[in-house]
Amino acid sequence: MSSDADRREASGSGDGGPASDTADEGLQPNVRETPAGRATGPRTDTLLQTDDLVKRFGGFTATDSIDFSVDEGELRCLIGPNGAGKSTLLNLVVGTLSPSEGSIYYDGQDVTDLEPNERVRNGISMKFQVPSVYGDLSVRENARLPIQQFADGEERRRRVDEAIADAGLAGYEDVEASTLSHGQQQQLEIGMAASLEPDLLLLDEPVAGLSVDERAEIADRIQRLNREEGIAFVVIEHDTDFVGEIADKVTVLHQGDIFREGPIEEIEADPEVRRIYLGGEQ
Ligand code: ADP
Ligand code: MG
Repeated sequence: MSSDADRREASGSGDGGPASDTADEGLQPNVRETPAGRATGPRTDTLLQTDDLVKRFGGFTATDSIDFSVDEGELRCLIGPNGAGKSTLLNLVVGTLSPSEGSIYYDGQDVTDLEPNERVRNGISMKFQVPSVYGDLSVRENARLPIQQFADGEERRRRVDEAIADAGLAGYEDVEASTLSHGQQQQLEIGMAASLEPDLLLLDEPVAGLSVDERAEIADRIQRLNREEGIAFVVIEHDTDFVGEIADKVTVLHQGDIFREGPIEEIEADPEVRRIYLGGEQ
């Protein structure tokens, strides 16, 4: 089966009627309802909702009917064994992968068929698992890349400078990125993703391979962006100390679906969660 065979067929259902603004003053409790109803009905504090999200690579199902939701301003961690489908889920949300089936609602709008740059305009940004800093470009040249198509002139300069300062790299503007430490490169990538001024920032393994001190700096940074700018996060990370320090709530993915969701204390104490980490998949 070719990987094109699972390309999502354009469905005729995405009329994406505007959300009713009339209910703004009376925020509804965050009750369980259909995502479609949530998308077109009264607004709740749900920022992101996936509905039966399936991604197949050939005959292999990487995400299997995932209903995943994140509230405005929330700081969520996503954990699970290697191959559980974590990166796939975030790539579907940001739009670098298209789902085989299912829908994605963001801020009350069906974004399933939007291109990644349109999703960025709507407020979703991501730092990918694979490094995307260009070693032979300077820090400033790298920092400019993501912003280029979204801002220009003074506004672009302001955001580039902020991204660099925020990454702790003021004074390194003209340095070749390849000479930065791995921790500095991760900081630069987070700055580049944050410079798009998202409401939802997806970070795929932002502290993998970093020292304890570098991890602490990134934990601080994420918490600052969350508290001061109100940015909601989904952070993929395995280290439970790091997760415990930053997360409001933890989602455990296993074999392409949500296995558990709750506070880190509950997740850590759950024998079934321990079992999936110890069993076979790594
Ligand atoms: P995680 O991030 O949880 O480690 P991934 O989402 O990267 O897992 O991958 C989930 C599963 O999907 C893995 O078995 C992986 O091999 C498979 N997979 C991911 N991307 C592709 C792809 N482009 N083609 C084929 N299989 C893929
Ligand atoms: Mg991954």
